[in-house]
Amino acid sequence: MAAETTIVVLGAGINGAAIARELTLSGVGVIVVDGSDIAAGATAWSTRLIHGGLRYLEYGEIGLVRESLAERNRLVRLAPHLVRRLPFYLPVQGRWGGLWAAAARLVGCESLARAWQGRHGRGSWTVGIGLSLYDLLAAGAGWPRHRVVRAGHAGMPLIDAQAFPFAGLYDDAQLLFPERFTVELLVDARGIAAAAGTRFDVETHREVQFGHDGVLRVGPSAVGGGPFEVRPDAVVNATGAWVDRTLAAVFPDALAAAGRPLMGGTKGSHLVVRCPSLRAALADYGVYGEAGDGRPVFVLPFGPELVLVGTTDIPFSGDPAAARADEAEIDYLLAAVTRLFPAVALRRDQVQQHYCGVRPLPFVSGDARSPAGVTRRHLVVRHDDASLPLWSIVGGKLTTCRSLAETIAATVLAALDVPVRSTSRERPLPGACAGASRDAVVSACRDLAEQAGVLRADATEVAKHAVSLFGSRAVAIWQGGRGRAAEAGLIRGVGLPRAAVGFCVREEWATSLDDLIERRLMLSFHERLSRESIADVAESLSAAGALPSDRVAAAVDGCVKRLEERYGRRVSRVGEGPGPGGQAIQGGQR
Ligand SMILES: Cc1cc2nc3c(=O)[nH]c(=O)nc-3n(C[C@H](O)[C@H](O)[C@H](O)COP(=O)(O)OP(=O)(O)OC[C@H]3O[C@@H](n4cnc5c(N)ncnc54)[C@H](O)[C@@H]3O)c2cc1C
Repeated sequence: MAAETTIVVLGAGINGAAIARELTLSGVGVIVVDGSDIAAGATAWSTRLIHGGLRYLEYGEIGLVRESLAERNRLVRLAPHLVRRLPFYLPVQGRWGGLWAAAARLVGCESLARAWQGRHGRGSWTVGIGLSLYDLLAAGAGWPRHRVVRAGHAGMPLIDAQAFPFAGLYDDAQLLFPERFTVELLVDARGIAAAAGTRFDVETHREVQFGHDGVLRVGPSAVGGGPFEVRPDAVVNATGAWVDRTLAAVFPDALAAAGRPLMGGTKGSHLVVRCPSLRAALADYGVYGEAGDGRPVFVLPFGPELVLVGTTDIPFSGDPAAARADEAEIDYLLAAVTRLFPAVALRRDQVQQHYCGVRPLPFVSGDARSPAGVTRRHLVVRHDDASLPLWSIVGGKLTTCRSLAETIAATVLAALDVPVRSTSRERPLPGACAGASRDAVVSACRDLAEQAGVLRADATEVAKHAVSLFGSRAVAIWQGGRGRAAEAGLIRGVGLPRAAVGFCVREEWATSLDDLIERRLMLSFHERLSRESIADVAESLSAAGALPSDRVAAAVDGCVKRLEERYGRRVSRVGEGPGPGGQAIQGGQR
C-alpha cells in the first residue's frame, strides 16, 4: 500500500527538497537526510538566477532552454516572494561578430569559438537571433519581447559605450535566496504529509550507512539527535556534486557496477561587491557580459547596496566542500567588471566576500567538450545492481528543480508500483505573496512589530525585511514569539526580530549558528552584520534550547572565523569598521 512506502532522499539541496515534496504529493512517506544542512551545497553557491540559459542555445540545447523558460515563468508565479523578474542588458561590440563563434560552438569546437569571440566579441545580429529564439521558446507567457538598443538607451546601466555600442535588452528572473526557497519546499512537503497522515522527516548533519540487511543506519546528528534505522523501499541519491562520494561511502557496489564516475564537476566563484558607484551604474538591471576570454560573466544587483559578480568555470575533482575562490579567479572577475564598467574603477578592497561551489555536471572524458560546453541537462541513473531500488541524480539547475522532481517522482513511483496522485505544477510555495497580498502581509507584520516594541520609525523596514525572506509566513514569526521574553527585540544592526531565530529552530530545522547565519536569516551577506548581531542570534538560539549557554561565546568565535576563512568576509564589532552599511538585502527592491 502506498501509505506504507518509505523513500529516503539523500541530500537536502534544491533538487533533493523538490523531489521530497513531489513524492509527498503522491502519499508516500519521505525521509530527507543531509550530511550537512539544507541547501548547504551548490544551491547556495550558484549565480541565483532562474533563467532559460540564453547561452545554452549556442550549444544546441533547445529542449533544455524551452523547459527552463517554462519553469522560470512558473516559479515567478508560484514563488513571487522569492523569484522576481529581472531585466538584463547584454552588451555587444558591433554588428556582425559572434556568428562564426556560435557556429563553431554548435559543432562542439569551443576553443575555436573562444578565439573568434575573444577577437570580435558578440555582434548585435548574433544576439538578436539568439534573443528572438529565446522569445519564441518562451512564447505565450506574456513576458516582454527582447529589443536591441544603442548604448545610452534611457535607464541603461553605465556600460562602456565605446567598447559596447549596442545591447540586447531581455527579461529573466532572479532568486536572491535559493537557500530560503529550498527550506520552503520542505516546509510545504511537511504540510502535505501532515494533511495526508504520512511520514515526513528532515534529518540534517547526519551520516548514513547501508547494510546488506536492507537497513539504512542514520547516524547521530552532529548537533543533537540520536541515531536511528530505517528500511526504505527506495533511495534517491540527490547529493549533487557529492553523488559519487555518496555512492562510494554508502553504496560502493553501485559505484563499482557503474564502472566510471557519474559526476565531473567544475567550480565556479562569485564576488559580492560593496561598491556604491558600481551599484548605481547597474541601476536595477542585470548585465550579462563577457570576460576578456569570451566567457560569460553576470553582474547583478544583490539588494540595494551590493553587486553579485560571477562566475568562473574550472574543472574540479576535490571534495566540493573544500572548493574556494582563489586569487586568480577574484582578479579575473574584477577584470571582467572593469572591462564593462571602466569608469567605476572597482577595487579589490570593495569585495565584501566571495563564494565558490561545484556544479554537479555529468562526467565527460578528458578530451571532450570544454567545461562551458558540458550539458546542464539532468540525467537520472538507476543502479540496477544495488540491493534496493536506488537512483542517482546527475546535474540539474536551480531553475529546473521542480520539473526534475516531477520526472524523478514519476520514475521512482512507477518502479514501486505507486500511482502519481498529484504534481506540484500549479502549487505555490507556502510563503507566496505578491502585489496587494504582499502589501497586506507587510502591514500586518509592521503592526505586530510595533506591538512587540519595535519603534514606529523602524517597523516598516523590519517588516519588509522579514517578508522578503519568509513571505507570508513572516506573520507567524511574531505570533510565535509572543510571550517568550528571550525572543523580544531585534537582532542588533540587521533589522530582523530575534523571534525569527526561534521560528527557524521550531519550523525550519535550523540546528546551529551557521545554519541560521548562512542559510535561514541570510545574514552572512548582510552589509551591517557585526559580531554583536551574531551574538544576538547565538543567544536566541541558546534560549530556543539548541545551544548550551556555556557554548555561546565559542559558537560566535567559530562563526566569525568561518565567515573569514570560507568567504573572506571580515566581521567586526559595531564601530570597528568596515563601517556602517546601507539597508538590508531585500528581495523586493524593484
Ligand atoms: C557556480 C554555480 C553557478 C550556478 N548558477 C546557477 C544559476 O544561476 N541558475 C541555475 O538554475 N542553476 C545554477 N547552478 C546550478 C545549481 O546551483 C545546481 O545545479 C543545484 O543547486 C544542484 O542542487 P542539488 O540539490 O542537486 O545539489 P546541492 O545543492 O549541492 O545539494 C546536495 C546536498 O547533498 C548533501 N550531501 C552531500 N553528501 C551527502 C551524503 N553522503 N549524505 C547526505 N547528504 C549529502 C550536501 O550537504 C548538500 O546539501 C549553479 C551552480 C554553480 C556551482
